[in-house]
Amino acid sequence: MLITEIADKKNLLQVGSAGPKVKVLQEALIKSGQELPVYGPDGKFGAETKKAVEAFQEMVEIKVDGIVGPETAKELKWYAYPNFKKAEFKCKCGGRYCNGYPVEVDEKLLYLLQKIRDHFDEPVIINSGIRCKKHNQAVGGASRSQHLYGTAADIVVKDVSASRVYTVANKINPKGGVGRYKTYTHIDSRDGRARW
Ligand SMILES: [Zn+2]
Ligand SMILES: [Zn+2]
Repeated sequence: MLITEIADKKNLLQVGSAGPKVKVLQEALIKSGQELPVYGPDGKFGAETKKAVEAFQEMVEIKVDGIVGPETAKELKWYAYPNFKKAEFKCKCGGRYCNGYPVEVDEKLLYLLQKIRDHFDEPVIINSGIRCKKHNQAVGGASRSQHLYGTAADIVVKDVSASRVYTVANKINPKGGVGRYKTYTHIDSRDGRARW
């Protein structure tokens, strides 16, 4: 289960909630450095989990209410994929056209990138992650490029050829997009298979 799937606007996790989603939440909280000293990840949202959620919300500077909705889940996801940081996906227009984050990075993309990272056990360098519309135009991106939606990354794996990265990306991402280039590989988490 993806972290961003544990809650949405209509289904919040809060005191009284219970089940596998709460367990995923608790495990993510622990990864983010919060503590559940008495109950641990027991799948039950009680006072201890609320306290940990509040501490997390305070840490990432979002509204502190002890309730988990989409905002909290979006921030939590960055702690589930230890080798990737939000800043690595920032739009490279350098602040000319956007604040760097015109869209959210899709968690499915992070999941795929972490798989590639784990496969090669080498750092994955993000050449291009999110792009705002103007920056995408400036770099000659396709008009409906997945980079506009936070679902794509152009990557290089340290000491691994682009063709080897393509082969692995092709295998692990049967339902999304993979593009072959001389010096890097494009991978995206769109709904639908695409290859070039
Ligand atoms: Zn931009
Ligand atoms: Zn790309």
